[in-house]
Amino acid sequence: MSGEADGRQAELAANLARVEERITRACVTAGREPKDVTLVVVTKTYPADDVRRLARLGVRQVAENRDQEAAPKAAACADLPLAWHFVGQLQTNKARSVVRYADFVHSVDRTRLVTALSAAAEREGRRIGCLVQVALDRGSGAAGQRGGVEPDAVGELADAIASSPGVWPAGVMTVAPLSGPYAGRPRAAFERLREISTRLRADHPAATMVSAGMSGDLEEAVAAGATHVRIGSAVLGVRPGLR
Ligand SMILES: *Cc1c(COP(=O)(O)O)cnc(C)c1O
Repeated sequence: MSGEADGRQAELAANLARVEERITRACVTAGREPKDVTLVVVTKTYPADDVRRLARLGVRQVAENRDQEAAPKAAACADLPLAWHFVGQLQTNKARSVVRYADFVHSVDRTRLVTALSAAAEREGRRIGCLVQVALDRGSGAAGQRGGVEPDAVGELADAIASSPGVWPAGVMTVAPLSGPYAGRPRAAFERLREISTRLRADHPAATMVSAGMSGDLEEAVAAGATHVRIGSAVLGVRPGLR
């Protein structure tokens, strides 16, 4: 391996150690066990070689947000012991591709997508964990920018997932809102998500995943009870552009 590549391996190792330390500290503060918080590394915009380096460092959960990028990357990493999470807004016509590599889809926000994922997963002989994405960035009726359903609609969508073959209700996900009542209050938003999760688990006990927190707000997410944090830039570096 070239010196430059070795340098990247060392950089990723240092970043990963820092993020794991942040998670551990946040758990100690919250009186939680670090093993109850799973780090999902968001590798979008970074090459398959970086995924390979992360796997060498012990990372087992990786996430992507665009099928066009994720499908070839997952194929290039098919020999690695990784679980792939899809976290981006998903068009129904991409369902067929996504179910080939993804183990979890965090961004399920409409019944048409459930139908598409179910049919595609059945055809591939796979069973995909679906998280209902909750939009907390809306007042009454105004469409949010980042996908997701209103809190009141979570139960109905989870029921649709539970009654469809090839998919199962795995939990809930949110992105800290930039607008609306929770803007600038990630902890409150994540606590709301946690309440929604508790209510959901009464009907769907297997739906234990609470996916919340990114590089800038993982402490708030851990404090509020997140089981999965989705960390990109703090591990891989700041992405160019606005993604
Ligand atoms: C990019 C992305 C992340 C990671 O964001 P960072 O700020 O880079 O940690 C998490 N969740 C989703 C849905 C994303 O698109």
